[in-house]
Amino acid sequence: MSTLIIADHDLGVLSPATARVIHAVAELGPIEVLVLGQDTTAVAAEAAKLAGVTKVIVAHSAGTADGDVQVIETLAPRYTYLVQSAGSVGKDRMPRLAARLDLMPVTDIVGILGPTRFTRPIYAGNALQTVTDNQPQHILTIRASAFRAAAGGNDSPIEAIDVPVISAAKLIAQHRTESNTPDLATAQIVVGGGVALGYSENFKLIEQLAKKLGAAIGATRAAVDAGYAPNDWQVGQTGKIIAPDLYIAIGISGALQHLAGIQGAKKIVAINSDPEAPLVKLADVALIGDLFEIIPQLIAELEKA
Ligand code: FAD
Repeated sequence: MSTLIIADHDLGVLSPATARVIHAVAELGPIEVLVLGQDTTAVAAEAAKLAGVTKVIVAHSAGTADGDVQVIETLAPRYTYLVQSAGSVGKDRMPRLAARLDLMPVTDIVGILGPTRFTRPIYAGNALQTVTDNQPQHILTIRASAFRAAAGGNDSPIEAIDVPVISAAKLIAQHRTESNTPDLATAQIVVGGGVALGYSENFKLIEQLAKKLGAAIGATRAAVDAGYAPNDWQVGQTGKIIAPDLYIAIGISGALQHLAGIQGAKKIVAINSDPEAPLVKLADVALIGDLFEIIPQLIAELEKA
């Protein structure tokens, strides 16, 4: 039984999510990593260093899920498990692959109980479901934040392959949001802002605090819908899933859909004027009061430190 993990990477850097996926499936058998892309030499070298990896395969990608899936499908007969993180790229590729191979994928896995038994959240994270997957091959997406990262120190071989792809889709352009803050999905500290901020200008307060702490910035859907924060900051059921060591939730009530995205947070600090807000009750530490008074004080204290 062997496993093919499709690596996540961006701008020539391997995503920390891939190291976590490798650790998650380490017990399932030997692991090979597929790096799809262009100019992926550095990414492949990083992947080859991760413990548990027996080989890294590099193939060209034109940047479309449609084309990438054809490469994975060509390699698929060699593997029992075909795995990627449950990030936006994995969510695009793996259901397509499942359809082509006529398999049912098991998605958003947060626990691996055995070769065919997996745990995944349902009902917006309010319950955990154990799935037994008796299919001959398994297509899995892993919620990387639920697992520790594989260690480094390995030196596995890298093999380049050439798979001809016929795709109806063509990548025309990529538009990026420039950001100096850490990646939300893998950050150790996240500062999240809610609709209580009132204006997008006021999100600058959150940004200042995040900068002082070296934190990533998150937001509720209400704040995103109101146009106060960009879409890719949204945390929750329909946004990003985060698992930081510290989550500072500012003016956030704690709706179930938001909580679904922060269950992996190890410590939560809530700043809210309402002592009855669900997130205040859930938090390890709660500061009750007006965020517009508390945040500048916090920033001033951090400046002194
Ligand atoms: P509110 O619930 O309005 O809370 C504002 C909080 O700010 C309150 O607790 C209030 O006491 C506090 N406050 C107000 N003024 C101040 C002040 N001056 N100082 C301090 N505190 C103050 N939401 C998500 O976040 N992520 C999702 O992925 C998501 N997916 C959804 C999917 C579906 C299908 C649906 C139906 C909803 C989804 N939502 C999601 C929306 C969710 O239900 C809530 O509406 C949203 O999370 C509320 O955001 P909020 O906490 O910013 O706003």
